[in-house]
Amino acid sequence: MKYTASVSTVAYIGLGSNLEQPVAQITSARTAIALLTGVKELAFSSLYHSLPMGPQDQPDYVNAVMGVKTNLLPMALLRSLQAIENDQGRLRIGERWGARTLDLDVLIYGEQEFDVPDLTVPHKGLEERSFVLYPLFEIAPQLRVPGKGFITDLIAKCPLAGLRRMD
Ligand code: ATP
Ligand code: MG
Ligand code: MG
Repeated sequence: MKYTASVSTVAYIGLGSNLEQPVAQITSARTAIALLTGVKELAFSSLYHSLPMGPQDQPDYVNAVMGVKTNLLPMALLRSLQAIENDQGRLRIGERWGARTLDLDVLIYGEQEFDVPDLTVPHKGLEERSFVLYPLFEIAPQLRVPGKGFITDLIAKCPLAGLRRMD
C-alpha cells in the first residue's frame, strides 16, 4: 500500500503586475506556481484592474488571487515565489510599492498566524486592500482569515477604491 507523510495546507497567493504586459505576467506566474513541486492549484480568481498604492506615477495594476494546496513550508513557498518573481524580471530596486513586473505575496497559509523575519502571515495590510479581498472572496466566499475575521465582513469594510473585474 502506498502512503505519503506530507501534510497539505491550503494557502492563498496574491499576484500583481504593472509592467511588461501585466496580463501575460500574471498568466505565466500562474503556470509557474502550478508547476512547483509540492504545489497544486485549487482555484484562480478573475483578473482585476486596480489603481496603484503608494507612488501614483506608475501604471495601473492587474491583480489576481490563487488558491493552492501545498506541502511546502511557508518559507520554502515564499522563496519559490520570489524565484518566480526574479525569473520574470522583478528588480528589487526603487521605492516601496513602485512599479514591478511581478509581485507574489503569501496571503494566507492554512490557519497559521506568525511574524518571523521576511514573512508575516496572514499578509499584513490584507484587510485594507480591495485588490486582495475581492478576488479572494470570489474563490473562497466562506473563508475566515486567521486573526482578521470572515472575508465577507472584511469586504463590507473595504471600499472598491477603483478596483474592477476584467472581462
Ligand atoms: P507588500 O508586502 O506591502 O505588498 P511588496 O509586495 O511590494 O509590498 P516586496 O518588495 O515584494 O513588497 O517584499 C518585501 C519583503 O516582504 C520581502 O523581502 C519579504 O520577505 C517580505 N514579506 C513579509 N511577509 C510576506 C508575505 N506574506 N508575502 C510575501 N513577502 C512577504
Ligand atoms: Mg505586495
Ligand atoms: Mg511582495
